[in-house]
Amino acid sequence: MTILHGCVADDFTGAVDLAGNFAARGLNAVVITEPDSALHELPSDTEAVIIALKTRTAAPDAAVRQSVDAFRRLSEAGARQLYFKYCSTFDSTEHGNIGPVIDATLAELDLTTTIVVPSFPGNGRTVRDGQLSVWGELLEHSSMRHHPLTPMTESDVRLLLSRQAQTPVDFIELATVRDGVDALRAALERASSPSAVVIDAVTDADLTTIAAAAAGLRFVTGGSGLALGIPVPERRAAETPRLAALAGNRVILCGSASTRTQEQVQAAKKAGFLSLQVDPRAGTEQIASIVRWARESWAERPDVPVLVYATGSPDDLAIDDASAHADAADRIERTLAEAAAALIDAGAVEVISAGGETSGRIVTELGISSLKLGQPICPGVSWARATTADDHVINLALKSGNFGSTEFFVEAWDELA
Ligand code: ADP
Repeated sequence: MTILHGCVADDFTGAVDLAGNFAARGLNAVVITEPDSALHELPSDTEAVIIALKTRTAAPDAAVRQSVDAFRRLSEAGARQLYFKYCSTFDSTEHGNIGPVIDATLAELDLTTTIVVPSFPGNGRTVRDGQLSVWGELLEHSSMRHHPLTPMTESDVRLLLSRQAQTPVDFIELATVRDGVDALRAALERASSPSAVVIDAVTDADLTTIAAAAAGLRFVTGGSGLALGIPVPERRAAETPRLAALAGNRVILCGSASTRTQEQVQAAKKAGFLSLQVDPRAGTEQIASIVRWARESWAERPDVPVLVYATGSPDDLAIDDASAHADAADRIERTLAEAAAALIDAGAVEVISAGGETSGRIVTELGISSLKLGQPICPGVSWARATTADDHVINLALKSGNFGSTEFFVEAWDELA
């Protein structure tokens, strides 16, 4: 087995997102959540391994320890290129973990240079003049400004990173990328040493140039978009196995508060989905009533997914004190994760989980150690097959809050037909 790409993702939705992009380039990609055991049980044709961590909002020392440990294991397993995957909107706080993980990984691997490429044009995330935009709007003016855990009030990736990292930040502008692979490689060689080099990218073609120029770098960092730039192996067409629908009930568990997810919640309600909002002031004591309600709903309308959500409109987030807010966020995550396990026990076999943190909690609570990638649903989201610690086999879609069309909750199931 030759692992071409050994990756560490800072959340679980991002891990599946990255696997989907490798798969779109024709590589066999596997997502694992327990590096100790699962790295030794990889299918022999594995070419990209993504270790899913839940470190985006973890304390920096824990995030660094877990990430460096994961990279060390991937390195020992023979991975040729190491890839730190974070959010295409650079989700982090000023004291966030992207910079410290880059610092520590460079030190661990005894390297001087890496690249920083958050762009994911297929989802509207681009970097020009170092400024990150979401569908043409600067990040600081986008809805990410109001994210409950990682509010993004700065758009300049160089500034965002230099506030977090000890490693000096360098920059390569779009014109150099557009000059082609050789010019970009030469610019990377000229970059200050040590440095983390932020590179502009606006189109998938820019990512192709960057991936080619960085092919010889031991360690790269970025959103999942960078993987879309890697060369497709000539030996086969890009194709992922299609997962079939499973017989049983369907549930959407939605902890994201992102604007797009709120629209998706409204669209699902409009489509007639039965829905239940969790109470952010209450906790896991709600689970019994959630399960009772879901059972009744499935009995009443077996063909319709049920929707359990935390935030359906901006007013739901009206908790202004920061610590009360963090407590509520944690309660919601715990409630949805434990509800997921209880609902699967009650007969759910197909699950959409919306929200990065939420999905991390759910996958951990279910004791899922690896995810078998299936068909894509939209840029950044794929169906995956997983077996829970209790041996339930499920189809699972982990959706980052701002991904997917407004009709995602209604239409994603069609891909399983
Ligand atoms: P996204 O992918 O949109 O960032 P996440 O699940 O990563 O979604 O983050 C959303 C966070 O917001 C979670 O911690 C969730 O528990 C929290 N949250 C959702 N709704 C509310 C609410 N009404 N009040 C407080 N926190 C909330």
